[in-house]
Amino acid sequence: MTANEYVKSRFGRFMDECTNEEIYTALMEFVKERAKQKESSQGKKKLYYISAEFLIGKLLSNNLINLGLYDEVSAELEKCGKSLAQIEELEPEPSLGNGGLGRLAACFLDSIATLGLNGDGVGLNYHFGLFRQVFENNLQKEMPNPWMEPQSWLTKTDKTYRIHFGGFAVQSRMYDIDVVGYENRTTKLHLFDIESADESLVNDGIQFDKTQFAKNMTLFLYPDDSDENGRLLRVYQQYFMVSNAARLILDECTQKGSNLYDLADYAVIQINDTHPTMVIPELVRLLMERGLTMDEAITVVSKTCAYTNHTILAEALEKWPMHFMQQAVPHLVPIIYELNNRVNQKYHDPSVSIINGDNCVCMAHIDIHYGISVNGVAALHTEILKDTELNNFYKLYPEKFNNKTNGITFRRWLLYCNPQLASYIEELIGPGFKKDAMELEKLAAFVNDSQVLEKLLAIKGARKEALCGYLKQTQGLELDADSIFDIQIKRLHEYKRQQMNALYVIHKYFEIKSGKKPSRPVTVFFGAKAAPAYTIAKDIIHLILCLSQVINNDPQVSPYLKVVMVENYNVTLAEKLIPACDISEQISLASKEASGTSNMKFMLNGAVTLGTKDGANVEIADLVGEENIFTFGDSSQTVIDRYARADYVSKDYYEKDEDIKRAVDFIVSDEIRAVGCSENLERLYNELLNKDWFMTFPDFQDYVETKDKMLAAYEDRQAWAKMMLVNISKAGFFSADRTIAQYNDEIWKLDK
Ligand SMILES: *Cc1c(COP(=O)(O)O)cnc(C)c1O
Repeated sequence: MTANEYVKSRFGRFMDECTNEEIYTALMEFVKERAKQKESSQGKKKLYYISAEFLIGKLLSNNLINLGLYDEVSAELEKCGKSLAQIEELEPEPSLGNGGLGRLAACFLDSIATLGLNGDGVGLNYHFGLFRQVFENNLQKEMPNPWMEPQSWLTKTDKTYRIHFGGFAVQSRMYDIDVVGYENRTTKLHLFDIESADESLVNDGIQFDKTQFAKNMTLFLYPDDSDENGRLLRVYQQYFMVSNAARLILDECTQKGSNLYDLADYAVIQINDTHPTMVIPELVRLLMERGLTMDEAITVVSKTCAYTNHTILAEALEKWPMHFMQQAVPHLVPIIYELNNRVNQKYHDPSVSIINGDNCVCMAHIDIHYGISVNGVAALHTEILKDTELNNFYKLYPEKFNNKTNGITFRRWLLYCNPQLASYIEELIGPGFKKDAMELEKLAAFVNDSQVLEKLLAIKGARKEALCGYLKQTQGLELDADSIFDIQIKRLHEYKRQQMNALYVIHKYFEIKSGKKPSRPVTVFFGAKAAPAYTIAKDIIHLILCLSQVINNDPQVSPYLKVVMVENYNVTLAEKLIPACDISEQISLASKEASGTSNMKFMLNGAVTLGTKDGANVEIADLVGEENIFTFGDSSQTVIDRYARADYVSKDYYEKDEDIKRAVDFIVSDEIRAVGCSENLERLYNELLNKDWFMTFPDFQDYVETKDKMLAAYEDRQAWAKMMLVNISKAGFFSADRTIAQYNDEIWKLDK
């Protein structure tokens, strides 16, 4: 049955007589049915990828591509005078993730299905997701982001469990989203919800009654954690997620014949960051309920779980106060004490204890002691974990530590988001790269082919035009597609250093004012959400929005420099921004970004990286060679040593460097105050002047020089296109298919 016949069978009318809404709904059902026909046959051993976040993005086009139906369906639509692009505008994007970590989980599911591995995702069905960002008076405001329409990608299942907490219990229900592999089988993303969810608890914006856990548990992802109740709610959410996951795992494994002692032959659990850590004590508890002794249960669980670390920021490593545990999950407390006692008896080292001196439970420590594997997400990150942050653990368990450099799915981040580039690549090297990303290396043969280079530039130009059109339509912006597109899109965090980019913008503004005009205009794009309780991050957004207003309205400067902050940065916007990028900003303070994945998406789409030697940037540089990337700034070792000496004084740099002083002073200048809010601006100014914890000043001059070098290099269009080509040709390593194959070979060991 074609899509059009399906629509007819559903509505009694062909597509040309249906509304776009009807077609969207029908196509969704059509895809679901096709996906069902490709459901995975169950192997004995299965992977459960548990994650508090799955930033899946819109699904219609992606699923059509993976089912091999995209061209056919878009041709059918065109024949009826409809366009797939317009229809997918109707699809809401589920914001079930914050950023990189959640997007990684989504890319991994795509690769698991594509490689035909037996593995499902398990997470939570947040009704309002993260939040939708709106700008008002140059400030971020948070709004709920509802995405579950009556007809959605969710399929309600009849799987429900009773989940107990201290003092109450809730009924859960599992909803499934099909994960369609590229020309292969489908697997599932299981999202658990509470039956008693009450959306009317939400009042103004994303404010809601934080005390009614039995009604609010699945309303939002990571609600504002600035107050005690918000933090406590996260414990409830995490336990709800893993208790459901653990029950599902035990059900499925016993059904397949496991006697529970052999659980590790049937299941492997990947714990994505520490949020699902409670699955370890919960499985121990459930196994004991089913007749195993504590000893036996701990032995079984310790063979089943593997942990991925995503951060070396100490403040991001979860530690829950014991009284939270007592209140939310009292039945886990004796098990956590027992896990802790065993560690203490064996090692006599408080630094590796599970319960620390403040009576908090260190979640990562549970994962490391009671799991089979600890992995970092880029080579540098894993080395830093081994050498510094987790060194005491590495000495105990060197065999558990391993690296799995992150990857991205090339289906979404090339085939879907940049069909022009994908089909040109196919013209040059054939379709093999779609299945085996390493075949992109064949492009190297064209590195001196001026016709090919011209065509790459033309595709980039077309994508820049398309972005301009989209931003004009959606955000009312007038942009110049001939300017250089310099893009920094990622969560707002001080370690990612959007503030350093903002200081560069100010520096450029002064240069242009003083007559030093760039040879070609530059458009600096930002896109970022800040956590609602992260004050300085919100102040940085405020500064960028103020700069944008001042600069874009300055007739002397705006012909040469424009600043754009896109509203509500999400996967959908990323898909439009990334193919249009010339300069990929990856400027985190060295040693702080675990991997980064937008750096990979940009490279694959022919952007050139401006980056510090951090995270996966290091591996990008190794692959493309120093002549095809622009790196700057202090090395991770220099940074680590400077933190150790604790002798960084930002004010010294401010006083000695006139450019830094001029840029920082501008934050609290009359021009900026005129469009901004003095309280926010002064707070940010003081933060930089007196703290600058992520060391923007020491890297500032190197950043300015390197970026200016890059702007100059852009003018040699052939040489630039060569860099683009080399970047694309070397991106194959960053396919999530490679990452997942490594997880499977070295950790999961599922049969293929
Ligand atoms: C890829 C992606 C990220 C991760 O970006 P980094 O620059 O690696 O932090 C965050 N958000 C969205 C929407 C993404 O697609």
